[in-house]
Amino acid sequence: MSKEKDGVMIGLECHVQLNTETKLFCGCRTQAEEPNSACCPVCLGHPGSKPVLNAKALDYALKVAAALHCEINKEFFFSRKTYFYPDMSKNFQITQYEIPIGLEGQVVLSTGKKIRITRVHLEEDPAALVHEAGMAASNFCLVDYNRSGIPLVEIVTEPDLSSPQEARDFLDQLTTILSYLKVYSATTGTLKADCNVSVYGNSRVEVKNVTGKKGVEKALSFEVARQKNLLLNDKKIVRGTRAFDEKTMTTKATRTKETEDDYGYIVESDLTTIHFSKEEIKKMRENLPELHAAKAKRFIKDFSLDEYTANVLANNFTLGNLFEEIAKETEPKMAAKFLTRELMAVVNRSDLDLDSLQLNPEEISSLLRILSSQRITEKVAKEAIIAYLTKGTKPMQFIEKGGLAKDLTEADIEKAVEKVLSENRQAVADLKRGKQKSLNFLVGKVMKLTRAKVEPRIVQDLIYKKIKGG
Ligand SMILES: [Zn+2]
Repeated sequence: MSKEKDGVMIGLECHVQLNTETKLFCGCRTQAEEPNSACCPVCLGHPGSKPVLNAKALDYALKVAAALHCEINKEFFFSRKTYFYPDMSKNFQITQYEIPIGLEGQVVLSTGKKIRITRVHLEEDPAALVHEAGMAASNFCLVDYNRSGIPLVEIVTEPDLSSPQEARDFLDQLTTILSYLKVYSATTGTLKADCNVSVYGNSRVEVKNVTGKKGVEKALSFEVARQKNLLLNDKKIVRGTRAFDEKTMTTKATRTKETEDDYGYIVESDLTTIHFSKEEIKKMRENLPELHAAKAKRFIKDFSLDEYTANVLANNFTLGNLFEEIAKETEPKMAAKFLTRELMAVVNRSDLDLDSLQLNPEEISSLLRILSSQRITEKVAKEAIIAYLTKGTKPMQFIEKGGLAKDLTEADIEKAVEKVLSENRQAVADLKRGKQKSLNFLVGKVMKLTRAKVEPRIVQDLIYKKIKGG
């Protein structure tokens, strides 16, 4: 009965919200607080209302298809999928079926394994069904049409993933690519996936509508264990659809899945067919921004980082950008080490979201400069970064308030002056020619480097002394 050799086979259908300002087929806002405040006849599904395609959403989906190395169709169109639930009041969803935007792409995991992408297409999100807590939830349910018509890009994989950890790795790679393309926001956008799982060649089970990367990993871990357990006890795995309950961390059977035929797709005749020339598609590919694999290579080349560190930095869009900013002001290798070890340790330990922290690179640069001048210990630097990330306390304030920095000796100031003079030869030459502005510039650099309450006059005197001596 069981075929051990097939192992675990997982395929994902990911629905990712594109971060456009307006919805897919109307001009309603995608971000709104008050329920049912961002809707119109189109996204409410009123008879006679006509959809108009959001050009930006199309552009974003094309970028996704290109970045996932898909074949992009020169001609594609939209279809109506029969959908009879209260969250889609026009009783059909506008999606793509027969010819999607992109076909046959791939995503490379951190291990180097290639996961095949079956298709990439664009579709509208249904409304949100809200089960109010504290009310008789079984009696009624509220519908918020603010969500109705939000643009989603659907990314479907082949069943190439062989563990829940691999599925998580895939989603990490995917969201990194989407962040680099600037088409997805982890803070305001949603990511949901339907997860298809089968073990040892037995029947396939679909766990529907799982939210978030962590959710997918957890749901799959439970489902794989459940199926293996059934087989161990000589029980059959029933083909069907299940729902994941985050509270109990279990999956339970829901309605049997309709087949694609049941959806009765018909062509959406209110939207025109979209055409692209070969040249336009080629141009699209050439205009893709630098993605994480290329960025990691650049970090290795430009900053002599090791491969592991470069990948850790580049695989996180926000972390990579933070590093590039900080590397301008500090020693890059030291900055890379501090960010990947100390900073990310705090992020992971406290389960923080780097995007929503909105860290100021200048604050971290200051901390690293004072650390490299050895006026604070590594222990103090670690404490300062913990305070910054978890409480928002600026590192320099943390150090000053706690009196944690050693005072500068005269030798320290002299060293700083020497460093600044050697790094700013043009300004030194200008000053020698009597350009007063250069003096202010150099003093400023020394003050920034030392971050200490040094009298500017002392610094000025030292600069003159060095220049005359040199
Ligand atoms: Zn609308």
